[in-house]
Amino acid sequence: MAILEVLHFPDTRLRKKAAPVETIDTEIKTLAANMLETMYAERGIGIAATQVNVQKRVVVIDLSEQHNSPMYLINPEIIKGEGTEQMQEGCLSVPGYFDLVERAEKITFRYINLDGESIMADADGLLAVCIQHEIDHLNGKLFIDYLSPLKRQRLRKKLEKQEKLQVQTL
Ligand code: ZN
Repeated sequence: MAILEVLHFPDTRLRKKAAPVETIDTEIKTLAANMLETMYAERGIGIAATQVNVQKRVVVIDLSEQHNSPMYLINPEIIKGEGTEQMQEGCLSVPGYFDLVERAEKITFRYINLDGESIMADADGLLAVCIQHEIDHLNGKLFIDYLSPLKRQRLRKKLEKQEKLQVQTL
């Protein structure tokens, strides 16, 4: 397995739309394993292939503190959303920034697992938020897109300044 580079906002590659996976082959399984390792290394609870610059509809989530309950979602789709809920979100692609986002409270979703089985399930709470957040990534959307343009502009400036500082200290 390998740790992959995670793209950071405002990298335009985060805006690409991912294509559906047609067959779950070794390449997809290796990608999923590497995404999981990268997510654990970066202390995330979810990661989409778009964030590691692969335009395929693959999402990995693990909400457990022990890092022992990974979920692999291939071609995930929300079928139904109900209610609304605001939760504090962060993102491996927007390091150090957290803000409230409003999303559906309960969802019904469908995906294919690594064995190629099609699964339909319900989720609420953190899992529902996480799935919605990761599917947004596959569509080129970030959680900060839900913020006001002014807030987003300020954030972009702050992050660009940070990146510059990092380059200078290398
Ligand atoms: Zn994210």
